[in-house]
Amino acid sequence: MLSGIGPVNHLQQLGIPLVQNLSVGNNLQDHYGTTILFKINASLSITLENSFYQPSTLCQYLQNQSGPLTSQQGIESEGFYFNNYTFPALGYPDSGLAYGSYWPTNGTNLYYVMPYFGHPTSRGTVRLADKNPMTPPLIDPQYLVTNNDLEQSCSTHKFPFFMTNTKALSAIGAEYAQSYTPKCVYPGSVTDNFIVCLNSYYGSSLNHLSGTCKMGPSSDPEAVVDPRLRVHGVKGLRVVDASIMPFLPVANIIQPTIMIGERASDLIKEDYGAPTNPLPQIPISASANYKSLSNTITL
Ligand SMILES: Cc1cc2nc3c(=O)[nH]c(=O)nc-3n(C[C@H](O)[C@H](O)[C@H](O)COP(=O)(O)OP(=O)(O)OC[C@H]3O[C@@H](n4cnc5c(N)ncnc54)[C@H](O)[C@@H]3O)c2cc1C
Repeated sequence: MLSGIGPVNHLQQLGIPLVQNLSVGNNLQDHYGTTILFKINASLSITLENSFYQPSTLCQYLQNQSGPLTSQQGIESEGFYFNNYTFPALGYPDSGLAYGSYWPTNGTNLYYVMPYFGHPTSRGTVRLADKNPMTPPLIDPQYLVTNNDLEQSCSTHKFPFFMTNTKALSAIGAEYAQSYTPKCVYPGSVTDNFIVCLNSYYGSSLNHLSGTCKMGPSSDPEAVVDPRLRVHGVKGLRVVDASIMPFLPVANIIQPTIMIGERASDLIKEDYGAPTNPLPQIPISASANYKSLSNTITL
């Protein structure tokens, strides 16, 4: 936007000469969720006492690269599941979560669950605060502003509570750890109001911000780049990063972002007539599902 490519009204307000009027900074998307803690009555967690405070743990890591310190945030498992099955034609889950066994406590055995709804319909914006490139931009994520996202998020966050009734988790006495959320009192069984409270006071970004230079045809007023990543109406300029995603994938986004980079290098080589790697064949069912999702989002 500082270079004059962005929404004309916004650039005019800041006195930036217009190069191309495009919806740069619109369509901001992210995953949003609250990490939920559960107490257990078994010594299964990675705590400060049995990890960072133990010289033996440090030695174990330094000598053998094994033990609790090899664990990344104690994440034991990550998965994706069908929440309310937002886009039935997709054929793949719409929500994600991670289970972890590390939380920095002294003695208390806990596990945490990080759930999130994967296909938000809320859209935020990124705008310039002023013309100075050193000034941080104004980011308005608009988390959970649509009824759909509120409902889906409630449903997604209830799932870990229901999971405490499973044989495995009830055997170790899994119960909500109230002391970590003093602003939201657990009513004994999980309710929408309780989840809304958690999301309001304790929710956070999953750092999957994307979508602000959306890929799409020039007929789409929100599109910034074409399918070859070229900025509409500007010669010799491509965008190659997470911002070109028209909508968020349900999973973490570093892998598709790397894929965008790989694809961009092939596109540029193609433009110069250089040999490129053949494109992987996408199964017909997957491309049909993609089309279905695009249609759903557009509607
Ligand atoms: C704390 C955190 C944890 C995350 N964890 C995960 C995870 O576990 N799994 C996952 O899949 N994703 C994760 N993500 C998301 C993932 O890292 C991002 O989606 C991804 O890096 C986006 O890639 P990008 O190329 O679009 O942008 P970036 O990786 O942010 O790259 C932008 C680059 O541009 C450079 N730059 C900025 N301004 C200028 C300028 N004016 N001139 C020149 N260069 C400039 C920056 O220095 C940076 O190198 C995480 C993100 C954060 C912040």
